Amino acid sequence: MTLPKTTYKTRLAPSPTGHLHLGHVLHIIYIEDIARLFKASISLRLEDHDRSRCRPEFEASIIKDLQWLGVEVPTNLWRQSGRDKVYQINLERLMKQGLVYACACSRKDIQSETTQASGELRYPGSCRDKNIPLDQPDTSLRLTIPDAPWTFDDVLKGQLTHNPFDQCGDVMIRDRLGQWTYQFAVVIDDLEQGINLIVRGLDLLSSTARQLAMRAIIDPVAPMPVFAHHPLLREPTGQKLSKRDQSESIAKLREDGMTPAQVRELAMSLKQD
Ligand code: GLU
Repeated sequence: MTLPKTTYKTRLAPSPTGHLHLGHVLHIIYIEDIARLFKASISLRLEDHDRSRCRPEFEASIIKDLQWLGVEVPTNLWRQSGRDKVYQINLERLMKQGLVYACACSRKDIQSETTQASGELRYPGSCRDKNIPLDQPDTSLRLTIPDAPWTFDDVLKGQLTHNPFDQCGDVMIRDRLGQWTYQFAVVIDDLEQGINLIVRGLDLLSSTARQLAMRAIIDPVAPMPVFAHHPLLREPTGQKLSKRDQSESIAKLREDGMTPAQVRELAMSLKQD
């Protein structure tokens, strides 16, 4: 892959929904290594858009762990919870363009209509033409996306092509509780922060094409970022590590007397190829 001559900026975007674990350490190592390769700067962003799952104690523990691991934490941290206004402005713009509709379907409704081999639920567009008022309570808001494939370069996986319309259908941008979704907040923030190098785990690979589709609607002239989806760290059972698994939390490993360098080494040794 030939790198275009440009200045790169990547991001580390933890969600304060639990404590950091070894999987995050591996993620940080990949970000640092790939940022070095691209001479990219790294921005830290707290993805706390989901108010029902984020907790201040998780935020405090994440910051402490990051600092202990040697990650620079700016004082004026970028927090999605402080960006309601920006998300709202973008939503209104998309509404004016006629690209947003209200959806009254529950997860159960969607489940009964479609299941994919990947296990992901594909929204079949049931409410697309129902003209449900955009301010009707207890509805989510969805962005209509075209039925079109997206081809993107992945530093670790090569060139990939996915069609988000087949993967997930129209993307939810605000849920029934009025919370911004990860997909919407991340696209707006990546655009606004000028992120052009996105390094994240393979668990988020299926989000990429839908984010590219949303990005092209929100800012049609923004260049496509470069991606790197890295392997995850797995437990011997083959399960993805969860933030809830305290046995692997950074705080626990620190209490056990491990140094940051040893924790980094341990994370690398548990990486799945
Ligand atoms: N906030 C997401 C997470 O903690 C990362 C999102 C992303 O890298 O796009 O898994």
